[in-house]
Amino acid sequence: MAQRGADVAIIGGGIIGMSCAYELARQGGAHVVLFDKQNPASGTTGGSAGVICLHDMGEIYAYLTLLGFERIQRLRREHGFGFTPWGSLSVVYDPGEFPPPPDEYELRFGGGPESIYHHVALDREDLLRRYPWINPDGVLGGVLYPNQGFIDPYELVELYEGLALETGRVEVHRNTPVLQVRTDGDRITTLVTRRGPWAVEKVLNAGGPWGAKIAALAGSELDLAPQRIQVCVATAFDDGVEEAPLTGLPESVDGEGVWCRGELGGTLLFGQHHHTTRPGFTVDPDCVNRVNDPEYPRAVERVYRRYWHLPRSVFLNGWCCVYGTTEDGFPIVSRDARLSNFYHAVGMNGHGMTIHAGIAQCVAELLLRDGTSLDLSGPLGRPERLDFSVLDAGRFARGELLDFELRTRESARRSQAGEGG
Ligand SMILES: Cc1cc2nc3c(=O)[nH]c(=O)nc-3n(C[C@H](O)[C@H](O)[C@H](O)COP(=O)(O)OP(=O)(O)OC[C@H]3O[C@@H](n4cnc5c(N)ncnc54)[C@H](O)[C@@H]3O)c2cc1C
Repeated sequence: MAQRGADVAIIGGGIIGMSCAYELARQGGAHVVLFDKQNPASGTTGGSAGVICLHDMGEIYAYLTLLGFERIQRLRREHGFGFTPWGSLSVVYDPGEFPPPPDEYELRFGGGPESIYHHVALDREDLLRRYPWINPDGVLGGVLYPNQGFIDPYELVELYEGLALETGRVEVHRNTPVLQVRTDGDRITTLVTRRGPWAVEKVLNAGGPWGAKIAALAGSELDLAPQRIQVCVATAFDDGVEEAPLTGLPESVDGEGVWCRGELGGTLLFGQHHHTTRPGFTVDPDCVNRVNDPEYPRAVERVYRRYWHLPRSVFLNGWCCVYGTTEDGFPIVSRDARLSNFYHAVGMNGHGMTIHAGIAQCVAELLLRDGTSLDLSGPLGRPERLDFSVLDAGRFARGELLDFELRTRESARRSQAGEGG
């Protein structure tokens, strides 16, 4: 039997792998094969809350968010893709400042009424009338971002799969784990899957929380931690709640941030979130307790009941996921440190749905043109570029971690040196 082959093999069919398959096929003439060991979207993506919102943690996230938001709008316009625009709400409690002053991100990246930054200030009365389950104690007002909302992650992956297949250059193999990576010198030559070998020119690791395990198959190391994340659900329909925006609280649950958003059907979802790798959360994604800790829904309930009035709602065990984090909270999007035709797009932690399209465009730049910067003049309407070379896999070993400052150290250095960007 002749060995099958592809120009690019993608390992992982979550939102990152599938959107990269589409982007690579759209931008180039490459033959792409994607393998998922289960079904597409059955990893982190399937457990995601799917919120498309601001992730203002440095300019890289801001840029990637703009690209993601732009893509979702395009998919809505051109393919009737579903988006539920229930917004994001930031409640201001005493002694905060209401209305809050404009922030630096908005000044730099905000646009008109269609922008993801567009917002309206709701005074206390307005806010409590609109969202009567918010406990009025200490509330000064709120800021609602009405263009934000959520999508169905399965629908998004399915749409990308359809668009990728339509190009005629992409094959998707489900239930096909990659089990071995064969190398010759500094190159990967063959992927051995459950259904036989594939000769490959380039390989993209889009394995989400499995990313380090996939790298290990090729003998490489990746500074990526799979972290266990719990979600619980409140029966808010029992209190007449029909739609609720994404919100958070000024308090954590056992030291961990917890977001909340309304779900279709009148429930509320609550989930853990941390940007960076935290001790005590790392698990093996193939062997993780998928049942929430029995006390978790009670812990969320205790905190939320102090801020919200939901007397009849019951807090239930939801589901448990794993996402991949890094030490500095930024993704890894780069060529492997050892193997010249091996690339990684992992470590999206709690932001992968929003930033997926930006990541896929970075991947296309990297694999198709060996580039490390992206043109942002489309979403920004002015000449500006995203330099994503700082997301390289080697930064951890070099001790060059990124931070959540608005300007990355690299861009501050370049502007000081008069290099632009
Ligand atoms: C509870 C929760 C809520 C979230 N909410 C949001 C949100 O509101 N907004 C947002 O932007 N982001 C959110 N996220 C984050 C987002 O869901 C993730 O960043 C994103 O889904 C990661 O996608 P991925 O494609 O990198 O990984 P995955 O979806 O995990 O895909 C990796 C795939 O690789 C496959 N695979 C692994 N090993 C192999 C192998 N050896 N061979 C073949 N295939 C393999 C797996 O089967 C899997 O399908 C949330 C995450 C969680 C857990």
